[in-house]
Amino acid sequence: MTATLKDSYGRPVTNLRISLTSRCNLSCIYCHAEGEKNPDAEMSTQEIIDIMNVAAKFGIRSIKFTGGEPLIRPDILEIIRFVPKGIESSITTNGILLADMAADLKHAGLRRVNVSLDSLNPETYKRITGSDRVNEVLAGIDAALKVGLTPVKLNMVVLHGINDQEVDDFLAFVRGNHNLVLQLIELMHFNNCEYHGDLNGVECNLAARSKQILTRRMHHRKKYCLDGAEVEVVRPLHNTEFCAFCNRLRVTSDGKLKPCLLRTDNHVTIRGKKGADLEALFCEAVARREPFFK
Ligand code: SAM
Repeated sequence: MTATLKDSYGRPVTNLRISLTSRCNLSCIYCHAEGEKNPDAEMSTQEIIDIMNVAAKFGIRSIKFTGGEPLIRPDILEIIRFVPKGIESSITTNGILLADMAADLKHAGLRRVNVSLDSLNPETYKRITGSDRVNEVLAGIDAALKVGLTPVKLNMVVLHGINDQEVDDFLAFVRGNHNLVLQLIELMHFNNCEYHGDLNGVECNLAARSKQILTRRMHHRKKYCLDGAEVEVVRPLHNTEFCAFCNRLRVTSDGKLKPCLLRTDNHVTIRGKKGADLEALFCEAVARREPFFK
């Protein structure tokens, strides 16, 4: 392994977020699909393994698989088995297929999961996702806890006028289970501005009720500990700290390295590249990183 790469702002790059597909089995009203919609151009298993091996060489310490819905890829277990030694892997999933797969994912070497769950109420869940399978997601969370894919982080995108009154229900849901962490995510309002609400008020309220407030290394996120519930608030927009402490490089499902979550104009195409070429492009993508909010 070579030393961890740093960009020209001195930010080390230690985390890789790989989108495995742009296909999904839900259709959430707000979804940004990680900025992609190109289902015919998915990277092959081998291309994903190649990029993970280069990442290991350049000091990446954790990989998160995302999508689309990563669990619909038939080779998901194989991909996880090939995560290089020393790299911790996690997955972000909508949880629909998780109950049946949790044990195999754990066995393949996955460390933990994030499960996206925007409502505990079946009607609201259906309104947001188009699906009536919320019970399968809940079963998936149980299964992940049972097999030790922990901590299980629940991703709740807070949608103004739809689920924003459910924050306390979610606090009650995670309370008392130290293996469950709630992540409240501010909506990035690319398409549906009407659902966007500033999470400032929610965060102040959490701060006032917290017994302890910690600061995570990842994006300098605050973690609020209150009455046996752990809550993080994710606010990428207009947040200079989010950018200043960003340690992440993204890979799109069609084989591009994306230096910034919020930009679509500075990616590096790695499709069909191997060996020294792939390594050079990895370094090029790191060099192109700059904070979006300075
Ligand atoms: N299908 C997987 C899932 O549901 O977790 C992975 C892909 S999904 C795009 C990854 C995360 O991005 C989810 O937690 C989702 O809620 C979040 N997300 C999607 N669109 C968003 C938006 N416009 N603003 C904020 N978060 C968003």
